[in-house]
Amino acid sequence: MSITDFTLAIEDLTVSFDGFKAVDSLNLYVDKDELRVVIGPNGAGKTTVLDLICGKTKATQGSIMFKNKELTKLSEHEIVHQGVGRKFQTPSIYENLSVYENLEVSYPKGHGVFGSLAFKRTAEVDKRVREIADEIFLADFLDMEAALLSHGQKQWLEIGMLLIQEPELLMLDEPVAGMSVKEREQTAELLNKICKGRSVLVIEHDMDFVARIAHKVTVLHQGKILAEGDMETVQNDPKVIEVYLGH
Ligand code: ADP
Ligand code: MG
Repeated sequence: MSITDFTLAIEDLTVSFDGFKAVDSLNLYVDKDELRVVIGPNGAGKTTVLDLICGKTKATQGSIMFKNKELTKLSEHEIVHQGVGRKFQTPSIYENLSVYENLEVSYPKGHGVFGSLAFKRTAEVDKRVREIADEIFLADFLDMEAALLSHGQKQWLEIGMLLIQEPELLMLDEPVAGMSVKEREQTAELLNKICKGRSVLVIEHDMDFVARIAHKVTVLHQGKILAEGDMETVQNDPKVIEVYLGH
């Protein structure tokens, strides 16, 4: 593949499970500062696309270029190190640690310009933890044990644990599932903020929520792109109405 201006450029991506192509010759391009939403019926291959990007599943064929680096050859750990953060459907937070501690342990090791000056590093980490907590609406919950947070707050905490690592590509799989109306509104506000300076890829079913956040929508169906464009174009596409929105 050639050099590209896209943060993420996926070409001809295919994964076959015992002959069944869950993702089939997919091309997908995501810009910096872009928030892309992927929608589509159950089994369309949405989660598998994220699994392929983060290296959890290995591609059968095709290319995933991230900042002009090929990801399909890298391990999951190396992909995280390249600046790819992924939130799974069930939050993986440390229930018995406080909000503060959850963010603190997620701060990247060996990051920062202060070298071995431990006290400066501590101050830097403390500052970032508080900034992130503020962003994810948990500034007043820093000392609370994570187990006691609401379902929505746990989701935000996990987003915060990714944000503190400053990923250039952030991927979220159904982030508002199970959230209250108010929490959904706040999550939309959060995502609109955090897509600046990076690329964000969101899988979501809640179309009201999608309308609030999507710059562009990609509709997946049987591992292939059925439609792509702005929300209005996609919503009015007869093919999309037939296989997805009509149900
Ligand atoms: P979506 O997230 O759009 O609902 P998935 O990506 O989870 O869909 O799944 C797409 C299809 O691929 C489904 O038919 C699913 O059963 C299949 N699939 C996903 N992962 C695997 C796997 N590791 N092994 C076998 N089949 C899989
Ligand atoms: Mg899924």
